[in-house]
Amino acid sequence: KGHFGESLNLEDMTVQFGGLKAVDSVSETIQRGTVHALIGPNGAGKSTLLNLASGFYRSTSGRAILFGEEITNLKSHTLSKRGVARTFQNTELFGEMTALENVLVGLHNQATATFLETLLRLPRHYRDEKRFRETAQQLLDYVDIGAYAETKASNLAFGHQRRLEIARALATNPALLLLDEPAAGLTQSEIGGLVELIRDLNGRGVTIILVEHHVDLIMDVSDKVTVLDHGRVIASGDVETVRNDPAVIEAYFGQ
Ligand code: ADP
Ligand code: MG
Repeated sequence: KGHFGESLNLEDMTVQFGGLKAVDSVSETIQRGTVHALIGPNGAGKSTLLNLASGFYRSTSGRAILFGEEITNLKSHTLSKRGVARTFQNTELFGEMTALENVLVGLHNQATATFLETLLRLPRHYRDEKRFRETAQQLLDYVDIGAYAETKASNLAFGHQRRLEIARALATNPALLLLDEPAAGLTQSEIGGLVELIRDLNGRGVTIILVEHHVDLIMDVSDKVTVLDHGRVIASGDVETVRNDPAVIEAYFGQ
C-alpha cells in the first residue's frame, strides 16, 4: 500500500494535569495512508493523546504538525475543518435525536459556505437541506445502519451507536480519523464488521489512529503500533517487532 508522506507529527509533546504527566515528551509520526495503533495499559495516556491531536486538550509543551502545517493547540472545530475527526471512548451522541439528525449535526458543523453563498451573503438555511439529508442517509448506509435513520440514537443497539459515531465523524470528510476503543463492548461478529469498515476507510485514503485493547483487531488492521506506558512511548514499530519487544510484554501483554 502506498505511503504519501506524513499525516501527523508530534514533537516532544507533554500534557500535564497538576503533577501528573498524562502524556510525557511524546514524539511520534503518523504516516499518511496507514492504520496506526496506539496501545498501552489503562491510564497510559492514549485518550489524552487523541484529545490532544483533535484539539480537545492543550499541550503543556511540544509541537504538533498536520500535513506539514503547525497545528499546536488549535481548537477542535478548527482541526475538524483541517481534516481531523474522532470518536469517543464513551460514545457521545445526541440521544434524543434520530440517527440521521446526529449525522446532520456533523454535516452542518463542517460544511463551510460555498463561494457563491459568501458572495451573495446568502443565509445558511438557503442551502439545500434535502441534499444534506441525502448525504447523511448515504453515510448511514455506508456504515450499514441506513435502516435506522429515523431511530432515536439512545434507542439504537450499542454496536449501532458505535457505527453512528463513526458516520458522524465521517460527515466532516476527515483525512485523519481518530478512533478511541471502537471495539469496546462489541460482540465478536460486530468486531469483524468493524475490521472491514476500518479496512474500507483506510482503502479510501483515510489515515487512522486506532486506540484499542483487542489484540486480534490490532494485529489484523494495523500497519504500525505505538505502545504508551505512563505517558511515554516505550515501543513503536511494525506489529511483529512490537509484539516481541520485552518492554511491551512486560507493560502490556504481560498484565
Ligand atoms: P488511557 O486512555 O490510556 O486509559 P487517559 O489518557 O484517559 O489514559 O489518562 C491518562 C492519565 O491522565 C490518567 O491518569 C488520567 O486519570 C489522567 N487524566 C486524563 N484526563 C484528565 C483530565 N482532564 N484531568 C486530570 N487528569 C486526567
Ligand atoms: Mg482511554
